Amino acid sequence: MAAPILSSTNYGLTPAKAARGNGWIEVDAAAFEANIDAVRADIGTARLAAVMKADAYGNGIALLIPSIIAKRVTDVAITSNEEARVARALGYRGRLLRIRTATSEEMEDGFRFGVEETVGNPEVAARLEQMWRKRSPKRRLPVHLALNAGGMSRNGVELSTPYGKAEARALLGHPSLHIVGAMTHYPSEEEGDILGQLARYHEDLAWLQGEGLTTAGLVRHTANTFATVKHPATRLDMVRVGGAIYGDPGSVKTERFVQTMSIKSRVAAVNHYPAGQTVAYDRTYRLERESWLANIPLGYSDGYRRGFSHANRPEFAAEGRNRSEVLIGAARFPIVGRVTMNTLMVDVTGMQDKVRLDDEVVLFGAQGAARIAQAEFEANGSAYAPEMLAVLGATLPRVLKERAR
Ligand SMILES: *Cc1c(COP(=O)(O)O)cnc(C)c1O
Repeated sequence: MAAPILSSTNYGLTPAKAARGNGWIEVDAAAFEANIDAVRADIGTARLAAVMKADAYGNGIALLIPSIIAKRVTDVAITSNEEARVARALGYRGRLLRIRTATSEEMEDGFRFGVEETVGNPEVAARLEQMWRKRSPKRRLPVHLALNAGGMSRNGVELSTPYGKAEARALLGHPSLHIVGAMTHYPSEEEGDILGQLARYHEDLAWLQGEGLTTAGLVRHTANTFATVKHPATRLDMVRVGGAIYGDPGSVKTERFVQTMSIKSRVAAVNHYPAGQTVAYDRTYRLERESWLANIPLGYSDGYRRGFSHANRPEFAAEGRNRSEVLIGAARFPIVGRVTMNTLMVDVTGMQDKVRLDDEVVLFGAQGAARIAQAEFEANGSAYAPEMLAVLGATLPRVLKERAR
């Protein structure tokens, strides 16, 4: 199984226990709930499908399902059966929609969690129907039709060709599959592109209706975070929002959403080195003065990428001059040299008397009034934030931030 095995109890971790290790992630459920409110304030009568794939974008679906239930969110989008299992184990009873094409065995295993599959391929639909009939000969299985109107060419059937039209007719011809929704997904954030593909989606639906698709009660959904926030016309009956509910509005410039994840470690030592010494592998960083370096016991094996390395020697100019910073005592300090497998070094020269053993270090998120926000994290890590956060989430222990009373 490629998706991680998940725990519905989060291994019994408490904030105190998690913080005893070399690093941990704090997840802010209050911020998550506020983000849900902020999305809902926008979408009027459209339903909100909270996208919780990739174990809730690295936050941990087990930690956030209680908020989904408390907020009465009725639609959750997942990708793995493990996410579905944990959601059900924790009492979520609403719709579980899988937003990628599943393998046969995944589909069969998903029956017991009531997963609604996204289907855009007739062979897959036939397989699904065959398995479902064996399990439940009388009832119809709710599924969502995936259309390639958006132009992702990933899950959806392409209706602009005779081949695709034949496939779509085949997709409609399964009496045991009940098409309860029709989706597409946008690859682009350009206004003209999105609105053009939305028009295609409406044309596709009209054609399908002509071929016998029942559109009464059909849940039409196309919008991710960007489309939801920027293009009201895409919201239709339901929006599928991931980024925004975790405080990542992507390229939508807004401060309305609050980051739910913080990545933390501690100062393990503060070491003294002379001017002229170099730091870490390949000697990419040279100390220009007598220096005090804080040793932070977290590295790329924890998911904190080598991309955060910071070189200052001219020979390494090609690596870029990311001046990645971390927060200690609500002040910023630069990483120096390469991030290694389990350790990174931070220059605290001048503040060496203030930085103490075991002080909390923030690599992403806020500490006092200081903050490492999404854009900075991406620029310094030379990678896409959701990619980094999903991996960090799968690696580091995660706990809920204690709620303010
Ligand atoms: C990931 C995903 C979303 C959510 O995208 P965000 O930009 O994070 O809101 C919606 N729909 C599909 C099909 C997805 O794969």
